[in-house]
Amino acid sequence: MLVTGGAGYIGSHACKALKQAGYTPVTFDNLITGWKDAVKFGPFERGDLLDRARVNEVFAKYKPTAVMHFAALSQVGESMQIPGKYWRNNVFGSLELIDAAVEFGVKNFVFSSTCATYGDQDNVVLDENSVQLPINSYGASKRAIEDILANYSESNGLNHVIFRYFNVAGGDPDGEVGEFHQPETHLVPLILDAIDGKRDALTIFGTDYETPDGTCIRDYVHVCDLVDAHVLGLKWLEDGKGDRVFNLGTGKGFSVREVMDAAAYVTNRVVPQIEGERRAGDCTKLVSGSVRAETELGWKPNRSNLETMIKDAWRWHQNGHFEK
Ligand code: UDP
Repeated sequence: MLVTGGAGYIGSHACKALKQAGYTPVTFDNLITGWKDAVKFGPFERGDLLDRARVNEVFAKYKPTAVMHFAALSQVGESMQIPGKYWRNNVFGSLELIDAAVEFGVKNFVFSSTCATYGDQDNVVLDENSVQLPINSYGASKRAIEDILANYSESNGLNHVIFRYFNVAGGDPDGEVGEFHQPETHLVPLILDAIDGKRDALTIFGTDYETPDGTCIRDYVHVCDLVDAHVLGLKWLEDGKGDRVFNLGTGKGFSVREVMDAAAYVTNRVVPQIEGERRAGDCTKLVSGSVRAETELGWKPNRSNLETMIKDAWRWHQNGHFEK
């Protein structure tokens, strides 16, 4: 089982879940945003997806029967400033990986996609059939990879499950791995940084959105629930059930201010805050249910409530970090 991006936040939690499910996750990661310390549940191979010879070497060494592909650049803001970096890294890198998978006879491919592929669709309940109209380069790059997978399924028989996730938060309750980005750009860890003085304040990106409190609304999913879905997705492919797209959200949206209030409640501390400008590329609201994942995969998210996600993130925040 090859896991690209296994040294990153979601990938490292996926490796733990895969190991618990009886697989041997081989991490392939260039460590640009990932951490060697986070690779705890299987072998590690350092490499870049754009380096096809290195990718081939790893396929030849481990002969994986399936690939779980997390490796990607994922910052919406940066993707608007440097779009080429996102197209090159995410799309070209994935294409090399997908070509290698085909060359080495892999049949099953699980891909980490995003709700950012839907773009800003006001007053629409998003489901897997919603039109994909990304408004940032990150979402556009992920949509392109989805298109590649659809083509390769027809021409090369590479079966795929695509997960479009909403906002991922929380961490391993055992504290073996957790969310740690350098620099950090995600809301929950930034709020926790502000709470314990690691940064001066949390800047709220925009307070004039058309939402009840003026801040953006997102659907937050616990990383452990998210990776459980990936293991179910892998089994789905192993059972020969074929290509499928699943949204992973809870159907409940929380505004930036609501997440801050929940963090203040869980930690019993004040969140120092500044009201700032909108961030380019941000959608007003991204929320989806996961009816398909629940009914077809049997996915049961059980940690995806705001309080549990923040509690798990806070525990890690106080005790955990990685070194390269
Ligand atoms: N956000 C914010 N301040 C920050 C970081 C994020 O107000 O310092 C907001 C951001 O505008 C978005 C939400 O928090 O509405 C979640 O952003 P994040 O970067 O965590 O995830 P994204 O939605 O971009 O995947």
